[in-house]
Amino acid sequence: MALRLGVGLAISIVLLGFSAKRLWFLISLVRSGQPAVGRTAERKKRVTAEVTEVLGQKKLLAWTIPGIAHVFAFWGFLVLGLTIVEAFGALFNPEFAVPVIGRMPIVGFLEDLFGVLVVVGIGMFALIRIFRSPAKYGRDSRFYGSHTGAAWLVLFMIFNVIWTLFLYRGAQYAVALEKGTNNFPFMNGGAFASEAVGNLLQPLGLETNEWLETIGLWLNIGVILGFMVLALHSKHLHIGAAPLNVLFSRRPNALGELLPLYVGKELLNFEDPADEATFGRGKIEDFTWKGNLDFLSCTECGRCQSQCPAWNTGKPLSPKLMIMDLRDHLFAKAPYILAGEDAAGQEKLIDAVKAEAARPQVGSRIDDPCYATDGYYEKGHRSHEGAVIDYDALWSCTSCGACVQQCPVDIEHIDHFMDMRRNQVLIESQFPAELSGLFKNLETKGNPWGMNQNGRTAWIEEVQFPVRVFGMEGEDKIPADVEYLFWVGCAGAYDDRAKRTTKAVAELLHTAGINFMVLGEGETCTGDPARRAGNEFLFQMQAQQNVEVLNEVGAKKIVVTCPHCMNTIAREYPQLGGNYDVVHHTQLLNELVSTGRLTMLTASDETVTYHDPCYLGRHNKIYMPPRELLTNVPGVNLVEMERSKETSFCCGAGGGRMWLEENIGTRINQNRGDEALATGASKIAVACPFCSVMLNDAVTVRSQEQGVEAPAEVVDVATLLLSRVQK
Ligand code: SF4
Ligand code: SF4
Repeated sequence: MALRLGVGLAISIVLLGFSAKRLWFLISLVRSGQPAVGRTAERKKRVTAEVTEVLGQKKLLAWTIPGIAHVFAFWGFLVLGLTIVEAFGALFNPEFAVPVIGRMPIVGFLEDLFGVLVVVGIGMFALIRIFRSPAKYGRDSRFYGSHTGAAWLVLFMIFNVIWTLFLYRGAQYAVALEKGTNNFPFMNGGAFASEAVGNLLQPLGLETNEWLETIGLWLNIGVILGFMVLALHSKHLHIGAAPLNVLFSRRPNALGELLPLYVGKELLNFEDPADEATFGRGKIEDFTWKGNLDFLSCTECGRCQSQCPAWNTGKPLSPKLMIMDLRDHLFAKAPYILAGEDAAGQEKLIDAVKAEAARPQVGSRIDDPCYATDGYYEKGHRSHEGAVIDYDALWSCTSCGACVQQCPVDIEHIDHFMDMRRNQVLIESQFPAELSGLFKNLETKGNPWGMNQNGRTAWIEEVQFPVRVFGMEGEDKIPADVEYLFWVGCAGAYDDRAKRTTKAVAELLHTAGINFMVLGEGETCTGDPARRAGNEFLFQMQAQQNVEVLNEVGAKKIVVTCPHCMNTIAREYPQLGGNYDVVHHTQLLNELVSTGRLTMLTASDETVTYHDPCYLGRHNKIYMPPRELLTNVPGVNLVEMERSKETSFCCGAGGGRMWLEENIGTRINQNRGDEALATGASKIAVACPFCSVMLNDAVTVRSQEQGVEAPAEVVDVATLLLSRVQK
């Protein structure tokens, strides 16, 4: 007994010592980040997220097979926590049992059941890794770029935890049977698997089984603690980091707004910035502690990568690899970061750390020897040549939100990417050349195309009904009889296709008897393109101007046709004191149809497919109103594309990409356009002016290639509705 205790304690002390040292390092590293604002507010939502996402594994179960495998492993380890207590207890007392519940058959049954399920789970993981291996599928594998070797090692370690558990429990059972003692806590039944192993071991005799019990116990404790050391040094760090990351993640409805810039916990004042202001994140130390926790939480599952439109069209951007690169850089630079301001301490650092500290955060990785394979070595992980983040990867992001929506551990990719863009634009002046024109047009003309402000009301001259323009009758406030302020938006005012939507919505509101008004020349761009393109300064100027106008005219209820305008006005203007009730036109029109204020005409049958705009769907969770609207139109047969609703595929225009050339890989809009055409629908319904342009271009390309008429017409839901409504 003394030998059992001595060896058991020695193993534990050594391995716990390693773990404690590593844990202290990790905590120090996370805490070295900048302050993060609002991470403990809304506690009820945080507790709910822990219950649903961590305990309930909700996001993991969105992918059924890997989700079930993870449930087995996760719940297995929770339940098997009891067996760890039992194992340590058995070092001190061979008849140890967990107090109160420790001899109940149900507890023994659950422990054994989950022990078996963990093996089933890791078997499923192994099969998934074999069938979806990067060696076989290359870039199409979601594990491409993940540490596959470490993942196999972890699966092997988990397997070791389970067989050593059943070895010592089986031997315990055999010894207890032989000696008639209480060595095994579940002599009253329940622990079916341990009993089965015990029955197999019993013929080996009492002495052998006593040794097997002791050796099994040492092995089990050693493997568990060894696994802990391994987890703390690998991507399995997520076992501890992910529940904390979910706890402290932002919890908006849908994806939420972009955060403003802070200096510490104070909002950045652009007019009088503090000396220490960083204007976005230009180096790894500029990220907040929550950012650091994000990097440590990544499981390398690749769900984000598998959905990313940029990655799926051959661009160097993978949200997973970006997060992994930031994490690897954080670790490699850690000695430098933790040395703080201590110049002597920094001087003593090894050359590799000094070189890592000098690496630029963003830059071209074109000289990376592994550039052609996304910096990925065939048998290893990403090379660490050149800048941490590839410039082309950073600017490939459409901010579609698929990565954030997919991530099972609530990593906030878009926040990080946009913060790096902000630093590139505001400090480094490094951004794609096309954006110079965009910024200039926004600054001087208040719209991305550089059109004259007086053109904002041109569409009104093309409709056959009166449209009230604010101020035309001397109003200084929106009159009480006006129910909605119609925010037309830049595309809605200047782009020919979007103007059709504007006119259709206005006519439908007029037909339904809704009193609405427009701001006319009082509108300027909401600032969304500037913000997503990293120009936070310009966004703040435009947003402040709009909020001042909207507050001055007393705007309350606003209807918009552009999801980007909607997202900015509804979700981001509250940051500047603008709080309005904003609806998308598909929501309002759906309500008007369902309440009978718009009456449908019967018409011939046609098949329609609907493309979810990212800023309406994932960013604002508005999936059903456009669909209900379409299915309420007589004769419309709505067919879904394979990638729809939460898993919809971007049109390629978000994140400021509408104004950028797409020179790498294949075109995102073509990928989506082809998917829409494959449904055989004669109309592709959209609900965003940018999606309309992008998908129309995609359809036109195919019709020109084939020398035939466009196989499908791209229409906004509103224009489709207008053609079927009784006027
Ligand atoms: S937001 Fe969209 S484009 Fe950007 S990294 Fe995430 S999935 Fe890719
Ligand atoms: S960022 Fe999230 S979704 Fe992507 S690999 Fe990491 S854990 Fe998985």
